[in-house]
Amino acid sequence: MKKKLLIIYFFVNIITVFSMNTEKIEYFIIGNGNPKIVITAGIHGNEISGIIKVKELKKYTPKNGSILLIPEANKEAIQNNTRTEYYMDDLNRVFFKKGDNRAHKKAREIVKIIKNYNPILILDLHESPHNYDENKDPNLYMGNTVIFNENMPSDFHILTLDIVNLGFTPIVSSMDGTFNKEISDNLHIPVLTIELSKDESLSERSDKLDLILNSVYDYLEIK
Ligand SMILES: [Zn+2]
Repeated sequence: MKKKLLIIYFFVNIITVFSMNTEKIEYFIIGNGNPKIVITAGIHGNEISGIIKVKELKKYTPKNGSILLIPEANKEAIQNNTRTEYYMDDLNRVFFKKGDNRAHKKAREIVKIIKNYNPILILDLHESPHNYDENKDPNLYMGNTVIFNENMPSDFHILTLDIVNLGFTPIVSSMDGTFNKEISDNLHIPVLTIELSKDESLSERSDKLDLILNSVYDYLEIK
C-alpha cells in the first residue's frame, strides 16, 4: 500500500512539474489559403480592447485569405488584469532573448507558431494609458500610434499610411526584445503594432480597431 501511494505521489509530481514548464499559447486559424496574416493581442494582460476584438474575430470566416489569431498571448496576466505577472519578465521585452522564466518560454512558443504559419504581415494590438505625446514618458503616452520597423518592406508603406490617416501617429520601433522589433529583424515578417489609447472609451477603441482591420482586409483583399 505504501509503495502504491509513493508511486501515485511520484506521478502527481511529474505532472505538476510538466505543466509548469510548458507554455501553451492558444491560437485559432480562420479562413484558408493566401494571403495569411497573424493578429496578436494580450502580450500585455491589462490592454483589453485588442483581446476582446481578437476573441470576436474567431466567429468570422474570411472567404479569401486566412488569419491566425492569438487572442491571449499572456493568459495569466490577462486573468489577473496586469501588464505581466510578478514571477516573469515583461513578455514584450524578451523576444529572441536568452532566459528561462515563463515570459521567455511564452515568447519562444509564439515565435514557433509564427514561424510555422509564415504570414506576410502581423498586427499586434496594444493599449497605452494616454494619447501620444513626444515630450512625455513613452511608457504612458503612446496611445493612437502605429509602430513599425525601419525595414518595413515597401509593399506595406501605403497600408501604414492608411492607418496613419485614421489618426495614428507613425513611430519607428527601436526597443530591444519587443515583439515588433525582434520579429521584424529576425523573422523578416513585417509587424504593425497598434497602440490604442485608454483616454478613449472601450467602444471608441473597438470602433478604431474595426477601421484598422477594414483597412488591412481591403489592402490585402481579405474578404
Ligand atoms: Zn502593450
